[in-house]
Amino acid sequence: MLTHFIGGRPVAEGKGFPVHDPVTGAVIRQVHEADPEVVDRAVRAARQAARDWAAMPVGERAGWMRRLAEGIEARFDDLVAAELADTGKPLDQTRTLDIPRGIANFRAFAEIAAQRPDDAFHLSGVLSYTVRRPHGVVAVIVPWNLPFLLMTWKLAPALVAGNTVVVKPSENTPGSAAVFAEICADAGLPAGVVNIIYGYGSAGQLLVEHPGVDAVTFTGSTRTGTAIMHAVADRVKPVSFELGGKNAGVVFEDCDLDRAVEGSVKSVFTNGGQVCLCTERLYVQRPIFEEFCARLAARAHEVDPQPMISAEHREKVLSYYALARSEGAKVLAGGGVPAFGDHRDSGYYVEPTVVTGLSEWSRFNREEIFGPVCHVASFDSEAEAIDLANAGDYGLAATLWTSNLDRAHRVGQRLEAGLVWVNTWYLRDLRTPFGGLRLSGIGREGGIQSLDFYSEPTTITIKLEQPDV
Ligand code: NDP
Repeated sequence: MLTHFIGGRPVAEGKGFPVHDPVTGAVIRQVHEADPEVVDRAVRAARQAARDWAAMPVGERAGWMRRLAEGIEARFDDLVAAELADTGKPLDQTRTLDIPRGIANFRAFAEIAAQRPDDAFHLSGVLSYTVRRPHGVVAVIVPWNLPFLLMTWKLAPALVAGNTVVVKPSENTPGSAAVFAEICADAGLPAGVVNIIYGYGSAGQLLVEHPGVDAVTFTGSTRTGTAIMHAVADRVKPVSFELGGKNAGVVFEDCDLDRAVEGSVKSVFTNGGQVCLCTERLYVQRPIFEEFCARLAARAHEVDPQPMISAEHREKVLSYYALARSEGAKVLAGGGVPAFGDHRDSGYYVEPTVVTGLSEWSRFNREEIFGPVCHVASFDSEAEAIDLANAGDYGLAATLWTSNLDRAHRVGQRLEAGLVWVNTWYLRDLRTPFGGLRLSGIGREGGIQSLDFYSEPTTITIKLEQPDV
């Protein structure tokens, strides 16, 4: 049974809960569930370690980040196996993206933190400079879609900025976090700097409410983000939220059509559509609309289905397939459950799906589905495309396909999203700000923005006496 990791040691407390293999539906592991006492123990362990960790010079903490990156490299195959078992992702994606990004996260933030200067401002006779101090204990709450990538994306800057952490992975995907706990122990990371507890949302709620937690970083649904905001409101804890999206892709008639179709296949179907950055609304300029739809639908038939994370999530995605039909959509590809004729038939699969014919006000086009599905609509003018893409409650990511450089800049700057890609998707430089507007989140992480969130500035102002000369 997977145990919590508290104060540098395994803690086998709390009743067990099962984790299912999304490929077959079979139970693959049992995990201890954190009760209030376990949550409290984890926060206390983090608090106890906080003072010494914060006092360590940043260069030394950066050294620890590099050692953790080496630890990940050494346990690469175990992490891949754990992530595959919990998520049913393609092996290739786990080997080339999920686990390598964990290594990159620790290396990148080691460099960024070690090189960051403090600000200093001079007026005549006055010097003001800013030092940054960590919050103390940070709660790190992460979802199931990119478990290792997202956990390390938050852990690395939180730790290098001098915080200790209590991590709660999703109940569906605790496996790679458990291997990471062993990596921390084997590296000899000071006890209590990283603590990992498992459980459902109720454990997450206890964690964020705990008075010993100073700040909360969360990636997941907007609904849960709202619940966390309520939970921390009384203590005014800083929060960083990366929430949902209903991302638009805009395809102009002057695009390279092959690239736009293949790029859209990636942006809609990667990870079974279970990435907050995936495209769920495509707007295509009218002269190429029919051809684009035909080609995208043909490619949807060829894409290997990937399992949804859980039976519940599959039901949710299928309920949106039904909603599309009831709202009057035309289904161009998919729309159901694939039949493999093998062990996968008891897993959590849905068909890659393309629909058209709905208004931008339909529920299907406004709510985040988080599955391998998109709606395609046509537009005539650039102004119309911008309005359509900006419609709705979210503002995380948008993708543009055009070969007109002026248009790329013009439209890109008018899209109301935290991230805009032109003729590509998902390409990331870890030094750039990442996050969304409106229901898609609060704040930005990435590069200096991460270090800013995981620390508080203190401004020191000194009046310098000017002796008469
Ligand atoms: P949640 O937002 O519910 O879960 C994310 C994390 O928050 C999990 O670790 C979860 O625990 C925890 N959690 C749940 N409730 C609370 C709470 N009240 N206080 C503190 N922590 C809590 O996402 P789901 O897994 O339920 O997915 C539902 C939907 O969210 C998806 O269909 C999708 O639309 C969206 N989503 C968006 C993601 C994104 O990257 N933007 C990522 C994942 C989901 P546990 O899951 O163990 O209960």
